[in-house]
Amino acid sequence: MGTQSDIKLIDENGLRLDGRSAGDLRPIRIEAGVLERADGSAMIEWGGNKIIVAVYGPREAYPKHNQDINRAIVKARYNMAAFSVDERKRPGPDRRSIEISKVLSEALSAAIMVEQFPRAQIDVFIEVLQADAGTRIAGLTASSVAIADAGIPMRDFVTGCTAGKVDGKVVLDLSKEEDNFGQADLPVAALPKSGKIVLMQMDGDLSVEEFETATSMIMNAIPRINEIQRNALSSRVKVEGGGGE
Ligand code: ADP
Repeated sequence: MGTQSDIKLIDENGLRLDGRSAGDLRPIRIEAGVLERADGSAMIEWGGNKIIVAVYGPREAYPKHNQDINRAIVKARYNMAAFSVDERKRPGPDRRSIEISKVLSEALSAAIMVEQFPRAQIDVFIEVLQADAGTRIAGLTASSVAIADAGIPMRDFVTGCTAGKVDGKVVLDLSKEEDNFGQADLPVAALPKSGKIVLMQMDGDLSVEEFETATSMIMNAIPRINEIQRNALSSRVKVEGGGGE
């Protein structure tokens, strides 16, 4: 982020490197129930991102001193595969993945009815197989589908999107080049029914006016992304119901 470069990210017609306009999303596809051994699962393809989420629980929290007598604890673990980026990524947790795991755990805790499961733990494993910018948001968006697939009660989905600033212009859903060479990156996630924001981070600089444009672009995109989440779950139900057994 913020690396000065001569690369031109927006052409004279206002179009981006991949041909999108400022408010366009990359293609998004979500499939629920992709792993048989997990309690719930989902796969998301968002632009060039490919991410699998596996959910386990609610089960008794371990070690016991971690238990909360009033609610379930939600443990998201975000991990990037070594082969998920151009240069091999050193395997294992680093500061970035620990931070992302923490903010995703907090965002999911706001949606899950954690108070129904005292002393329990819900594990959400987010495995990034291919990274193309916006992985925390894509992983979070897929996580709430995987949690619903596990039958864990939620107040609402968690649905996210990023916006940012490239070549001085506010645009939705940054691509890898835009993330690398742009001036700001703003990932946001909300509960779509209430509009309550459960994750907001910012890298780079935006004026107040640019920030407002960016957040309203995101809040406009959230119902579109939520529809893809809902469709992933309803087609899963159809597949299960269509077995004829
Ligand atoms: P997000 O993926 O949520 O946008 P960042 O803004 O930190 O998170 O990262 C942007 C993109 O930079 C990632 O999606 C990925 O494509 C790339 N990236 C992140 N970490 C690494 C890394 N350790 N090595 C190579 N590329 C990385």
